[in-house]
Amino acid sequence: MKNYAISKTAFIKFDQCQKAFFLYKNHPYLRDKISTDTKLTFKRGHDVGYFAQQLFAGGIDVSANSKNVLETEKLTAQHIQNKTPIIYEATFIYNGVLIMADILCLENGIYNAYEVKSSIKVSEVYLKDACLQYYVLKNTLPNFNDLFLVTLNADYVLQNQVNPKQLFKKRSVKKQAEQNLIFFNDKINHAHLLLEENKIPNIAIGKHCFKPYQCDFFNTCWKDVITPNSIFNLPRLNKDKLFELYDAGIKTLNQLTTELTANQINDDLKTAFVNNTPIINKQAINEFLLSIKQPCVAMDLEIWATAIPQLQNTKPFEQVPFLACFYNGTEHTYFITEHTTDDRLNFALQLIANTQNYNCILVYDKTMEVLAIHKLIELFPHLKIELEIIIIKIIDVYPVIANFNYYHPKFKNNFSLKTVADISLSNITYSDIQSGLQAMAYFENYRNSTNIIDKETLKQNLITYCQTDTLATFELVNFFKLV
Ligand code: SF4
Repeated sequence: MKNYAISKTAFIKFDQCQKAFFLYKNHPYLRDKISTDTKLTFKRGHDVGYFAQQLFAGGIDVSANSKNVLETEKLTAQHIQNKTPIIYEATFIYNGVLIMADILCLENGIYNAYEVKSSIKVSEVYLKDACLQYYVLKNTLPNFNDLFLVTLNADYVLQNQVNPKQLFKKRSVKKQAEQNLIFFNDKINHAHLLLEENKIPNIAIGKHCFKPYQCDFFNTCWKDVITPNSIFNLPRLNKDKLFELYDAGIKTLNQLTTELTANQINDDLKTAFVNNTPIINKQAINEFLLSIKQPCVAMDLEIWATAIPQLQNTKPFEQVPFLACFYNGTEHTYFITEHTTDDRLNFALQLIANTQNYNCILVYDKTMEVLAIHKLIELFPHLKIELEIIIIKIIDVYPVIANFNYYHPKFKNNFSLKTVADISLSNITYSDIQSGLQAMAYFENYRNSTNIIDKETLKQNLITYCQTDTLATFELVNFFKLV
């Protein structure tokens, strides 16, 4: 009997890369720092999992007061013996693998497990994770029947209170899991052997470092690869091509020949990296500048999208705009709504009012703004003409960068407004909020806060973040005029 050693997370790592698994088990301190965005995604998963307990209300959470997982496993066994009908975080160990089932239910004398995901789609990783749990449950619970993946129902529309039975969808994994029991058994035995060997597996970097997720040990393995002159800084080549070159011994940009760069842009990129000078396509930039009709204003919208809908008539992950900022070169204006009730009509009217005196609206990557405005048109057809005019007036600044009409080698593969502004402009400083996901978390806190001072601080942080984007967009256009 092996000692408990492998969690679900460890198994998924083993499946991605044996070295990542070994480092995770033996040298966890080498893991990269978890980003704020990743933490927020974990929190969302936890919140949705907790909410999904309402599908089977009144259960016992065996993890709540346990000191460690072994104690939780013991407690689970006691509840199974006592035929407790609903157990949350039910913990089992088999063949050295530890799993915690989100919800375990005794239904008509048989056990069904439910694994909750804060997502609409079932990914391959979710399926593997569920099949691993099935493997453990099948081998530990005599009257185990099936495991269901529980995901959010994309068609659910909130009416009054959230109805958990309609919000979630479930899918049996029995068929896939039964077909793969031997596969999991073999993999787990292999993983144990690797731990017993107690030697870091000699695995080179490769495409697997990014699939299904960027590996937690990226900075450990890649620290000597990502030099300023590394071919991995090239933004246009896909991973297949980059590794083809890398495996053929072409590791730095100087080694790239014209033949290998394949086209003019890659050739220009090579020159830019080797000389550390930007690519500037003056003709294309001038054409872009000529398309801007004065007076113009820079605009940025912030979006709220929750897994569990919170506004009436919205669906899971529906994008709801809550903040619009505008900057015309001299003054900032904004509109923010708390959406205590659905305030999207007011938001649409404010968008129209704040843009109607301008001939042109500058946006950095218009995708989200255009989607949000189309949704407002769908909701308020009587404002269709006014809202369509906003879309027509939008000039997207992003393609200037994305099409390499202006590209600085320091951008590397990152074309976000924050990166481009940090490198190209001197007067732009982002505050606490660094991404749209973080802005959503601030907004949630702003909505929920009952402390008037905290609330005001959160609101100001959000406005500053959004205003910084409009300032950066506007100043980027001014910067193009001088290059
Ligand atoms: S960075 Fe790549 S090679 Fe290194 S442990 Fe992770 S997946 Fe394996």
